Amino acid sequence: MEAYLAELNDAQRAPVLQKDGAMIVIAGAGSGKTRVLTYRIAYLMSLGVDPFNILSLTFTNKAAREMKTRIAKIVGNSEAKNLWMGTFHSIFAKILRFEADKLGYPSNFTIYDTQDSQSVIRAIIKDMRLDKDVYKYKQVYSRISSYKNSLITVKAYFQNPELKEADAMSKKPRLGEIYQEYVERCFKAGAMDFDDLLLKTNELLNRFPEVLQKYQNRFRYILVDEYQDTNHSQYLIVKALSDKFQNICVVGDDAQSIYAFRGANINNILNFQKDYENVQMYRLEQNYRSTKNIVNAANSIIEKNKTKLEKVVWTANDEGPKIVVNRLLTDGEEGRFVAGSIFENRMQNQMSNGDFAILYRTNAQSRAMEDALRKKEIPYRIYGGLSFYQRKEIKDVLSYLRLLINPKDEEALKRIINYPARGIGQTTMDKLSIAGNQYGKTIFEIIENIDHLDLKINKSTRTKLDNFVNMIKSFTILAENADAFTVADTVTKKTGLVQELKKDGTPEGIARIENIEELLNGIKDFVEGQKELADADGSLAEFLEDVALATDMDKDTGDDDRVALMTIHLAKGLEFPYVYIVGLEEDLFPSGMSMNTRSELEEERRLFYVALTRAEKQAYLTYTQSRYRWGKLVDAEPSRFIEEVDEQYMDYLIPQDDYKYKPLIDTDIFGDDIDKSKLRQSKPKKGTPPPAHKPSESQLRKLRKLKPASPEPEKATNGIKLEAGNVVEHMRFGKGKVLAIDGVGQDKKAEIDFENGGIKKLLLRFAKLKML
Ligand code: ATP
Ligand code: MG
Repeated sequence: MEAYLAELNDAQRAPVLQKDGAMIVIAGAGSGKTRVLTYRIAYLMSLGVDPFNILSLTFTNKAAREMKTRIAKIVGNSEAKNLWMGTFHSIFAKILRFEADKLGYPSNFTIYDTQDSQSVIRAIIKDMRLDKDVYKYKQVYSRISSYKNSLITVKAYFQNPELKEADAMSKKPRLGEIYQEYVERCFKAGAMDFDDLLLKTNELLNRFPEVLQKYQNRFRYILVDEYQDTNHSQYLIVKALSDKFQNICVVGDDAQSIYAFRGANINNILNFQKDYENVQMYRLEQNYRSTKNIVNAANSIIEKNKTKLEKVVWTANDEGPKIVVNRLLTDGEEGRFVAGSIFENRMQNQMSNGDFAILYRTNAQSRAMEDALRKKEIPYRIYGGLSFYQRKEIKDVLSYLRLLINPKDEEALKRIINYPARGIGQTTMDKLSIAGNQYGKTIFEIIENIDHLDLKINKSTRTKLDNFVNMIKSFTILAENADAFTVADTVTKKTGLVQELKKDGTPEGIARIENIEELLNGIKDFVEGQKELADADGSLAEFLEDVALATDMDKDTGDDDRVALMTIHLAKGLEFPYVYIVGLEEDLFPSGMSMNTRSELEEERRLFYVALTRAEKQAYLTYTQSRYRWGKLVDAEPSRFIEEVDEQYMDYLIPQDDYKYKPLIDTDIFGDDIDKSKLRQSKPKKGTPPPAHKPSESQLRKLRKLKPASPEPEKATNGIKLEAGNVVEHMRFGKGKVLAIDGVGQDKKAEIDFENGGIKKLLLRFAKLKML
């Protein structure tokens, strides 16, 4: 047996060793699904499968790189380089470039990012003179996006009166026309948006049988990670490509399906067995990532979902500390608590910043966390905010680069034709746009032919336009032979972009120059990296494609040590020793917009499951009593999800009524502004150990059966009326006498003198007490 196969358990090894056929691995978080894919690829290669024949689709490009690195360690670097590995978007963008002419696109087509797409839609809404309060461009964009992901083309849209009716019902009867115009403008600009990368791939494979055959033969072995979150468009691509050889291995976890709102279809995983012949189903049960407390707590949450495949997840890892729950007054305090706790854990357990992640439901929550981390001088990185490549100055440079590669790219042209200012005003642009529409040409083409058209543009402006076009053309010629760095360097100098920022002289201007320098450094690195590859040469076109599809996650080179901040959606597949899940409040998490139906609520619960299962050593849950939302301070209620976690895995830090953070002046030697003696009311107790040992065979058999989900258990607490003098029993602290009750409603607390725990203040909302 190959030595590396010993790094798998028996259940993981089985799908790795099955060379051919269709197989699905369904398993809970942290059980080694991604590891199975990695080792399976290495094993296929050791059996002599050519890496050019293996296609592996991952959730981020970073995940693909990590897998490649691991595989390279096993089979050697030069072979691993030839693997087709990446996100759906990046892999199929490559294929589309190669086949672009078949679909009428130039092979140097631009990839419009969300900003570009939305800006086109905004322009259309304006040109059509529609009410922008009814036709909100972001809504229109997401509607069009969902049509594309369901493979509803413009033609299909107009053939289906129900769609039109539905849009009319939502007061947007002209959505179809916007869709049509949007598609036309993108096509004319030689641009594809993100959804086109999948839609056009489907079109390519459907319309050209010889192309389909070519790629079927090339990708003899296909592997897909996170299969539960594939949308219809992705599903069809995988299905078409794997149809001939049916050597397909997908892994996923229905309990981690969190992208339904973007069209992910959980049925793809549920129906897999019907889609292929002789499907082998594998299950993994041992979690290697997390402590017993975390695994058990996560199990206790997901159990509440009715729609799910029954699964076993257990771990042989340590029991670990309990999950800490804390309530704070405001998001500011929440931030300070989290930052203080990170500081403390880092010191006490000799951890690095990179061992911590703060996860939230919405991007807006990052601000309070950032403020607190900055005060404590803890370095952090936000994923998923405005990405580096979307910053103004970076987009300006990139627009020049895009335009010189694809002069039809209207979004790029509009952005920089008069930046830095060269006297080409809005009136001129309007005239050019109108002429473009009239002649069916792009603005660039109109300018090229301006002397033959009667556009009522005066001589001096025509000269300016001429100069602009000639400058771009000179860059294009340069790019034919020079590498991406040389071109970008020349562009930033010759266009006057950097000089413009230098003139500015403000700190922001200087920061912008630094960002442009960082961009140039990045391009230099990229070029060096590409030159090592057999089939790449570090050209500007290659770089632009890389940028267009870079997710924030991909930029993380891991070379500097920072706390990670991101939404839970982005955290899928990742792991961190310490995880803080913040903002666990009703209306925020679960999101107020997702509580209308059971299925929406269940998706939120899966999101919570994903969040918790990122943690290796310890998890923290926090919520606040009041939070600014829509500019107003509103009372917040603890999330139902806190209550849903089995109490035995939790450690509640219940702040006293008069609890206040001390002013910074009172910081201790660690600079910690949290008074820990007041904070930590209940020390973690060595109570009954949680039952996270390997279940017996008969227990496992019982659990594995696909049984209907159990009804939600009754809440143990609270029907009871407590008063001082009552004798109660608590699972962990045993018998106790109630000393006092205070607070009202959500905040009602009992002070209880327990036999095994001393005096505790418990929030009645959480404490599960039995009256004796
Ligand atoms: P998720 O559902 O979150 O994507 P996953 O099922 O893909 O999780 P992996 O990320 O592959 O799980 O594995 C979780 C962690 O456990 C990783 O750090 C991995 O290296 C480790 N691991 C998995 N299997 C083993 C094993 N047999 N021996 C040691 N470590 C393992
Ligand atoms: Mg994984």
